[in-house]
Amino acid sequence: MDFYVVLGVRRGANDGDIRRAYRRLARQYHPDINPGDREAAARFRDIATAYETLVDPERRQRYDAGEHTGPDAADAGFAGFDFSPQVHAEPSTTFGDLFANVLVGAPDRRPARGADVHVQAAVTLEDVARGTTARVTVARHVACRVCAGGGVAPGARAACLACDGGGTTRVVRGHMVFTRPCDGCDGTGYRVRQACVACHGAGTEPRSDVLDVPVPPGVLDGAVVSVEGMGHGGRFGGAPGDARVTIAVLPHRLYRREGDDLHVEVPVAVHEAALGTRITLPMLDGAPVRLKVPPGTQSGQRFRLRERGLPSARGGVPGDLLAEIRVMLPRVLDERSKELLREFGRLQPDSVRDARFPVHEEPH
Ligand SMILES: [Zn+2]
Ligand SMILES: [Zn+2]
Repeated sequence: MDFYVVLGVRRGANDGDIRRAYRRLARQYHPDINPGDREAAARFRDIATAYETLVDPERRQRYDAGEHTGPDAADAGFAGFDFSPQVHAEPSTTFGDLFANVLVGAPDRRPARGADVHVQAAVTLEDVARGTTARVTVARHVACRVCAGGGVAPGARAACLACDGGGTTRVVRGHMVFTRPCDGCDGTGYRVRQACVACHGAGTEPRSDVLDVPVPPGVLDGAVVSVEGMGHGGRFGGAPGDARVTIAVLPHRLYRREGDDLHVEVPVAVHEAALGTRITLPMLDGAPVRLKVPPGTQSGQRFRLRERGLPSARGGVPGDLLAEIRVMLPRVLDERSKELLREFGRLQPDSVRDARFPVHEEPH
């Protein structure tokens, strides 16, 4: 008889583990709970002997060294012997003690859905205009392939001693009998002799998947695209979570987005603004658009090109393109240009200022 096997604990189990294992088993095999059941009585005697030996540091040391002590050495001879349980039972193990945590904290082994995995995908404004697929890498935990999520090395399962593999414990209280998931095995009915070496008993393994996530045209910054079933694996047969991909729209070198509208600043030379011109705007969808700048256009003036903005994510009318004119002053360094500007000033003395801002003529 291996005392560690009897109590269902590891060889290195500490005092607390041994006491807990004993209490758990005593609650099940105590002769007062199983009146007239000789098998339970015999089992309880083994449990008590194992407990008495392992809980005493000196006796445990001798036992570990190979010395068998006590009546267990002649195990078979005692089968069916109706003994007094009080002799072996821990003095403090009263009935109240034994049932202190009956019906509380039964482990929840219902199927649980896996957690979602959150990742980010960066897209350009051009991607938003056309729609795209974003490639993301999803790092997640799925059921270990070696142990199928059980965390147990193949073939290393043994029936739980506390429940004989049934997974439930019968508890008698007065005239009532309760059934609850076995404490010793969390209701699984088995104990682990060796943890799975691939996952070290965790039951999960890390896994990376590359996903091509559809990004619809007009997608908003911060929008979330879900890919069903690509999250962490579920527990106890539960469904996996989803991959939740948050779209981050990168800033653009020319265009600024406001809802579905696009804003762009268009630099225009003085003579172009004064005389009028046509400017080609490079569009996000690849089709260039020509902006007509009429003669006399002021800096800051805005032109609205209807429905040339971004597509609507809601499937409605596209946004507008708003082009704001910036009149850029030339750097005049050469004499010829200066002379032309002076002449222009003489030709148009009142072109800008009115009488409230009199010109103070200075020699050039
Ligand atoms: Zn069990
Ligand atoms: Zn495993």
